Amino acid sequence: MVQFDKVVKRFGDNVVLDHLDFSVEQGERVTLIGPSGSGKTTILRLLMTLERINDGVIYVEGQPLSHMDRGGKLVPANERYLSTVRKKIGMVFQQFNLFPNMKVLENVIEAPVHVLGVPKDEAVERAKKLLDLVGLADRVGQHPTSLSGGQQQRVAIARALAMQPDVLLLDEVTSALDPELVADVLNVLRDIARTTTITMLIVTHEMHFARDVSNRILMFDKGRIVEEGAPDKIFSEPENDRTQTFLRAVL
Ligand code: ATP
Repeated sequence: MVQFDKVVKRFGDNVVLDHLDFSVEQGERVTLIGPSGSGKTTILRLLMTLERINDGVIYVEGQPLSHMDRGGKLVPANERYLSTVRKKIGMVFQQFNLFPNMKVLENVIEAPVHVLGVPKDEAVERAKKLLDLVGLADRVGQHPTSLSGGQQQRVAIARALAMQPDVLLLDEVTSALDPELVADVLNVLRDIARTTTITMLIVTHEMHFARDVSNRILMFDKGRIVEEGAPDKIFSEPENDRTQTFLRAVL
């Protein structure tokens, strides 16, 4: 589904991803953990084609997002192809980024109607189901500004799912929320993990949530994976020193 093959990403002299190799299979839920600055968000942004790599290859569903030209220069795949990739990937950010001038329902149907060309009545029906799934069926006619942060984030999750993506990327989706609003958002995500087969790539500092929903944990440090495995192994019997220190600090 997603494969990183010796991916290098630099910002200036800062090597953020250092010949990174990993892959995520269809239906897997993989959580990236590790200290601040270890490159986790960058991985999600690269998949969304919001950033470009410096070396290596990223594949989505077997297709490369870039290739080497004859002169050995890395060139991105054509924009038309990248746009089809973006449609397969849903992303929920720390900041909800809802359209404040649109009602909740309009936020959720906007991209399916205008990007995918889904007929409006079909998009509305699906949006209502998704808003029900995230516990906001009674808020369809409200503006996002009248909702709590947790409710806005649940709208953002419904909006991402409305595109029927193959992969859902979750980037610290509860970090901007007041503590009492975090549980509702995580419970919605737990339900989605339990009731769907959507592939998920998750960056979170919520270690209990990571343990509950993930099939696999990747521990990052300085742009490399230092340890990976099933949640029970990583959280109960981490082998790597760096993982042990990190988990002692955050658990
Ligand atoms: P956190 O847990 O704090 O979100 P992270 O593991 O997600 O951290 P990234 O956000 O991927 O880390 O950042 C990795 C490194 O890349 C950091 O050193 C960061 O300062 C740098 N970086 C990220 N984006 C940019 C950018 N647009 N320009 C320059 N440097 C950047």
